[in-house]
Amino acid sequence: MIDPKIEDAINGQINQELTAAYSYLAIAAHFEKTNLSGFANWMHQQRLEELDHAMKLFNYLIDRGGEIKLQAVENPHKDFGGPLDVFKLALGMEQNNTKSINELYRLATDLNDYATQSHLKWFIDEQVEEEKSMEDVIAMLELAGDDRSALLVLNQQMGSRQGDPAAVTGE
Ligand code: MG
Repeated sequence: MIDPKIEDAINGQINQELTAAYSYLAIAAHFEKTNLSGFANWMHQQRLEELDHAMKLFNYLIDRGGEIKLQAVENPHKDFGGPLDVFKLALGMEQNNTKSINELYRLATDLNDYATQSHLKWFIDEQVEEEKSMEDVIAMLELAGDDRSALLVLNQQMGSRQGDPAAVTGE
């Protein structure tokens, strides 16, 4: 039987992943509205990844005999600036998520829950990728600066990001 403290923390992390998905959905809407459909596509792919993270934890908690307790998802940000501001905001969100995963790992370590530690290793590696992908886009946007044609090239590139067809199932 899973420790109730771990159960609560995993439920909290499921909420955090769903909150991230909701925020990326809001950002995708913002990019659609500002005619940057490539950036919107990128954010939709990101949103699907977050849903997949939530499902990985959901499936894991069920496998361990835990109870799923879904919580309200926070309202996403409303006032977004230009793409650079948005990606800086997204990087901050990912950094917070990394902290949250690390805290969950620490709790699993303190409680000698080796299965949860093992499951979380995938998330720890994934967060390295998540932060790097935000930083890469920030670097490109900084290079583009105020050059609108560079922004349009970048928008086109962002439009080519494709998702994993198996995503969102948590498999
Ligand atoms: Mg995530």
